[in-house]
Amino acid sequence: MNILDTSNIDRLQDIISSAARISVAVHIHPDGDALGSGIAAITFLQSIGKDAVLILPHMYPESLGFLVTDDIAGSIIVYENEPERAVARINESDTVFCQDFNDFSRTGDMGQALAESGAVKVLIDHHLYPDTESFTLTFSEPDTVSSTSELLYYILMALPQTGGDAKKLPAAAATALMAGMTTDTNNFANSTHPGTFRMASELIAAGVDRDMLLGNLFNNFRENRIRLMAKFLKDMKITEDGVAYMVLDRKTIKKYGIQDGETEGFVNIPLTINKVRMSIFMRQDKDRFRVSIRSKRGVSANICAKRYFNGGGHELASGGRMMIPSELRNAGEAARYIEKVTHEYFNDTAND
Ligand code: 5GP
Ligand code: MN
Repeated sequence: MNILDTSNIDRLQDIISSAARISVAVHIHPDGDALGSGIAAITFLQSIGKDAVLILPHMYPESLGFLVTDDIAGSIIVYENEPERAVARINESDTVFCQDFNDFSRTGDMGQALAESGAVKVLIDHHLYPDTESFTLTFSEPDTVSSTSELLYYILMALPQTGGDAKKLPAAAATALMAGMTTDTNNFANSTHPGTFRMASELIAAGVDRDMLLGNLFNNFRENRIRLMAKFLKDMKITEDGVAYMVLDRKTIKKYGIQDGETEGFVNIPLTINKVRMSIFMRQDKDRFRVSIRSKRGVSANICAKRYFNGGGHELASGGRMMIPSELRNAGEAARYIEKVTHEYFNDTAND
């Protein structure tokens, strides 16, 4: 099955061949798919002689640091740490690849520079409702791929430089694509398609060390994370509507010494309980609660995120945010809000 429109590939080839300076941008708080697809894009573009840099709105989590070799680190700019340098790079780029987000607002404060840039903009993404108007060329596959990394894999395989042979990818790109797909599917648990397994098979045949990846992605957490997970499971509430939720406040985050990215995956665990239909995890940040929502088939996490939590994402995996103090003042209020809106959500027959 080829999900890619070949005329889009032709256009992309033209864009790449006339590009002199390329920036690749991904979403705030980059996860494995954002970082993986970003690294894959820049290492591939560099391998064909292009000046390509990855711009991250925030630093990647330490647990993904194994993907960032010294070479790659030299081609990454973190907006949060060096905003002027990031904006200057965006402004001097003739081409920008926008990956793993559907809208510039998902890139936080650097979104304005991206939106205002006169560069050719290529979107490569798998989220619902892409803002296609903002892009010169859009590759958007919300229903047919597991991840941006999988979509980028098909795109790279369709280019003449690889001719469909995964062995022609730089090793770092192959590993990063496999890492991005593996984290976004939670190791083949969610949103996998026939092509996802084919991609994995071809990448392993091309030399990707999956054991090394799994070791780094799933067996290399700090003890604090697991201790906090125990607290999460103990404190989690389940409402009569089958909504599991937990609100993590700043004090607890501090007490457990939890870093960005270290609560990744928590929200999935309550879905293993038979009566749970939806799981909501809120984590207090400086000026906001960050919201993660997961649901079982037949329940839309995406609609719930859009309607009540200023967010969006995928049908069964979405996120959002609630500002402090204008929307929610503290963890107690957040818990009451979750109970109230999910009760409304599950008892509102108008839900589509
Ligand atoms: P996570 O819960 O892993 O942070 O995010 C799950 C999904 O929801 C991801 O695909 C992510 O892109 C999306 N998402 C997370 N936060 C937001 C948000 O604030 N706004 C929107 N539109 N999507 C989000
Ligand atoms: Mn993704």
